[in-house]
Amino acid sequence: MVSLRLVSLVLISAVWLSACSGQPQQKEHYFTGQTMGTTYNVKFVSSQDIDALALQQKIDQRLIDINQMMSTYIADSELSMFNQAPSLTPFTLSPDTAFVVAEALRLGKMSGNALDVTVGPLVNLWGFGPTKRPETIPSDTQIATAKALSGLDKLVLDGVVLTKSTDGLYLDLSTIAKGYGVDAIAELLIDRKLNNFLVEIGGEMRVAGTKLNGETWRIAIEKPVTESRAVQKIISVGDNAVATSGDYRNYYEDDGIRYSHLIDPNTGYPIQHNTVSATVVHSSSMTADGLATAMMVLSAKDAQALAEIHDIALLLIVKDDDKFVEYQSPAFTQMVTIIN
Ligand code: ADP
Ligand code: MG
Repeated sequence: MVSLRLVSLVLISAVWLSACSGQPQQKEHYFTGQTMGTTYNVKFVSSQDIDALALQQKIDQRLIDINQMMSTYIADSELSMFNQAPSLTPFTLSPDTAFVVAEALRLGKMSGNALDVTVGPLVNLWGFGPTKRPETIPSDTQIATAKALSGLDKLVLDGVVLTKSTDGLYLDLSTIAKGYGVDAIAELLIDRKLNNFLVEIGGEMRVAGTKLNGETWRIAIEKPVTESRAVQKIISVGDNAVATSGDYRNYYEDDGIRYSHLIDPNTGYPIQHNTVSATVVHSSSMTADGLATAMMVLSAKDAQALAEIHDIALLLIVKDDDKFVEYQSPAFTQMVTIIN
């Protein structure tokens, strides 16, 4: 479902012991698993006596719990129950889901509704939901009907109580839930005083501290091309998260027109512009995840303005004829070290 867009350059899981005598012996632990229709990867550096298996079980359980709250693929998840509930009926959410909904609404407002977690009916209509590619391009009437079921103005969150004003509203948190999952794993590590780690779910990544050899974690941002997997840039980001959104993996073509999986909620159509990828660096993976999608939906000009007003670390790659042109916001230049 989700392609891996950020590839850690440190895929070697070989464990080697610290050469420094007198220091507690450190090693790099690595494990991987499945969640949210994709894979997760966790690396951390710690002394050898940590029970890594018990920690992985805790992480797996936390991810299962998050899915049971926020997945639209689980028929009896908390989110699915909300989606099936009648309108105008206050629905009490778990604190986790309420936190994610609040952030989705905040980012939606900040981006002038470019990020819209109620866009599901349009996503399905354009063939990017569970029903896959449509036989024909939707008609204006179909688009208007689906659009009438969407809109952040149809949701009211009061503390942990969420109310929708329309039946048929479909809340889908998948554009920021992976980031939330990354933050949740990072928190489990930090709680155990593990402060040197890399956590990744389906391309959403967060790092802290250093690798075993003392070097910073290096993150590769992919070139936004469909035919191969190549590296555009290698960066290090301190203790932060990195998210990349792009239209170069999930799309289809019809009569030479590319239909992206990202919908502009203001028009009801897949985005049609020359931004090919948007990368955001932020302390929260959830926020980076949502903002990267929002920046991709906005025009390059509006994305740059938003990044400058809100001091967001943004790297945009824009297609200009056959060339890729990069824009780095002031906050990106400040927070990020370009390695290559
Ligand atoms: P990306 O990493 O490319 O941003 P995500 O997996 O985070 O992709 O989110 C993309 C998914 O979000 C789409 O497949 C669709 O289901 C949904 N989506 C599409 N357009 C929007 C939008 N404007 N706001 C929020 N979610 C959207
Ligand atoms: Mg996203």
